[in-house]
Amino acid sequence: MSADQTPRNDRIGIDRRTFLQAGAAAIAASGAGSAVASPMPAPRAAEPLPTRTLGKTGVELTMLDAGTWRAPGLDRLLRVLYSQGVRVIDTAKSYGSEPAIGRWLQQMPEVRKEIFLVTKDHPREPKDLLRSVDERLADLKTDYLDLYFVHGLGGTEVDWPKSKEFKEAAEALKKSGKVKFVGFSTHDATRAQQIMNAAEGGFVDAIMLQFTPWLERDDPLNRALDACFEKGIGLISMKQVAGTFSGWDQPGIDPLGEARDRVGVLAEKGFTPYQGLLQAIWSDERITTTCVSMRNTDQIRENVAAVLDYGASGPLTLSQIHQLRDACRSHGMTLCADCDGRCSRAAGTAAPLGDLTRYLTYHEHHGYKSEARRLYAELSDAQRDWRGADLLAARHACPNGLDFTKLLPKVDDLLA
Ligand code: SF4
Repeated sequence: MSADQTPRNDRIGIDRRTFLQAGAAAIAASGAGSAVASPMPAPRAAEPLPTRTLGKTGVELTMLDAGTWRAPGLDRLLRVLYSQGVRVIDTAKSYGSEPAIGRWLQQMPEVRKEIFLVTKDHPREPKDLLRSVDERLADLKTDYLDLYFVHGLGGTEVDWPKSKEFKEAAEALKKSGKVKFVGFSTHDATRAQQIMNAAEGGFVDAIMLQFTPWLERDDPLNRALDACFEKGIGLISMKQVAGTFSGWDQPGIDPLGEARDRVGVLAEKGFTPYQGLLQAIWSDERITTTCVSMRNTDQIRENVAAVLDYGASGPLTLSQIHQLRDACRSHGMTLCADCDGRCSRAAGTAAPLGDLTRYLTYHEHHGYKSEARRLYAELSDAQRDWRGADLLAARHACPNGLDFTKLLPKVDDLLA
């Protein structure tokens, strides 16, 4: 195929190093890319993006949600995102992106009422929520948040979503008028239980969770999502599964071409695997919107194209989703998106194998080398020590079939 015959998505950003994330249209915690490097002209005003209702809040959100974790060139990207119709903006105290959003809102105050602004922080106790919100408002240069998440609910906070303290703090926040809705984000191993507790508690408005579109029917997380959906708790997907193409660094490998050979719908639509992944997630009606970091104009265009096409052509079939799943798994994924720690349990080790492989992915494929090393350095010696673990049992237990035998020695080589 000549360059001129190359499909559009091949030309605008396919990095051989990534498979799912072919246009580097990342998971919320994804990699490198420069907003200013984009050769493409500034986009024109776009057609409205498809929307879904955020549970019982009744608020209509665009199904594409802009994550801003360490986004370079965010001042410009925010304007491009807005011009392309994206109306959900996601940030957090720890992302470092609140000041840029604050500048945008000061320069274009008319935007504030048009967007759904989400931020996060992790106070030590529910009673500290109000103080935390005041700080977020000051940084964001606004007088209200649409949605405030307790950021990254942890394994020792499993009961918060049904606790009296959190309920009272959430009610006080909403009564103050500073926050419209309250919830939590989670990618913790206990998230199925956290989310089930939220359904039981009934007071949380929304949850943002690490999600994969091919959860098993009887997976506890799937049952917890059903329970929340029935209770009208809004669900937002983040950290969508990302994978790398095994052999990406070998000459003659064409990950995108192989994916299209295996997944007919990608070839039909001229889509990257990542665009297919987004459509697979939107095909789950429980998910209101999908938070994606977009680091340049090309990534914004890719994701906007995916959501507009979804609006026009509707959900993928189960068989298309399974084709995509199988293609992802067969290409040697390195990042776990379904992390409940079953690999470590099956392997009989205290080492968090999912975390170790995630840090390796940050280092190898997302461009966050120092962050990966920092996270690794925070682990205890026992957590780093996977020797003696039954890695075949771990691979067998892992829904994404991570090849720990290959990946963990690389963790030692690159991160230790
Ligand atoms: S089993 Fe797989 S998906 Fe689950 S925690 Fe381990 S690596 Fe992650």
